[in-house]
Amino acid sequence: MRVLLLGGTTEASLMARILAQAGVDAIFSYAGRTAAPRHQPLPVRVGGFGGTNGLTAYLRDTGITHVIDATHPFAAQMSKNALTACAKVEIPLLAFERAPWIPKPGDNWLTVPDVVNAVAALPVMPAKVFLAIGKQLISVFATRPQHEYLLRLVDSPEAPLPLANANVVIARGPFTEEGDTALMQHHCITHVVAKNAGGMGARAKLDAARALGLPVILIDRPVMPPRVIARTPEDVMTWLGHPACLGV
Ligand code: NAP
Repeated sequence: MRVLLLGGTTEASLMARILAQAGVDAIFSYAGRTAAPRHQPLPVRVGGFGGTNGLTAYLRDTGITHVIDATHPFAAQMSKNALTACAKVEIPLLAFERAPWIPKPGDNWLTVPDVVNAVAALPVMPAKVFLAIGKQLISVFATRPQHEYLLRLVDSPEAPLPLANANVVIARGPFTEEGDTALMQHHCITHVVAKNAGGMGARAKLDAARALGLPVILIDRPVMPPRVIARTPEDVMTWLGHPACLGV
């Protein structure tokens, strides 16, 4: 058995620890988006594979027998490429994916299908917007320059931001409700824009928004083709045939 673990999430790091402890032959793959990615207890490769064809060749050349897709729920391109390449090479793929967030009493969420609709859902009058969506899609918000934006990024931006009126906080999760409440109060936030990523550490901003009575514009996950999904490390290990190797 030789596993390719597609990473970039807290879940992927958790799975890496469990696979390493179980002695499973596995390779961890990063896209290479952050300057200082977390250390992993597995051999690591960094960077794109070169689309579906590149990934297909990689799977064949390295003798991968199983792929665990533990990428972010919004990393749809990578996930679709992995499905296609695994089908070509005829090896099994499992998506280790956190459940989406569902509203709790007191949450004031407007769910939208994509980032363009998130922009359209902002008010016309100037607002102070916590744009908690990473850095890749923020340029779309340049069409609403009347708002003041708060961005939270993992790395300092290397190029000027596409948003003129933006404050940047550099921080890496997990975050807490107390910390995010203080952050939003400090910046007098009136609206939160977030992706429905799921998980614990990133939920803090939604709990803080509820505590402060703020509206949240929540972007839905991209629609994926049907695939096998595991919600827990136990399920992943059972799928691999290693049910006893837990406890990390
Ligand atoms: P994406 O749009 O689905 O992927 C774009 C391309 O990046 C892929 O086609 C692939 O290039 C490369 N890539 C993505 N993940 C990779 C991985 N784990 N290993 C090797 N290559 C990878 O993905 P994205 O939204 O840019 O996300 C990139 C990474 O950041 C992922 O690892 C994801 O888990 C993490 N992340 C994403 C988000 C988000 O909101 N999208 C949030 C937090 C973390 P090739 O086609 O050349 O193979």
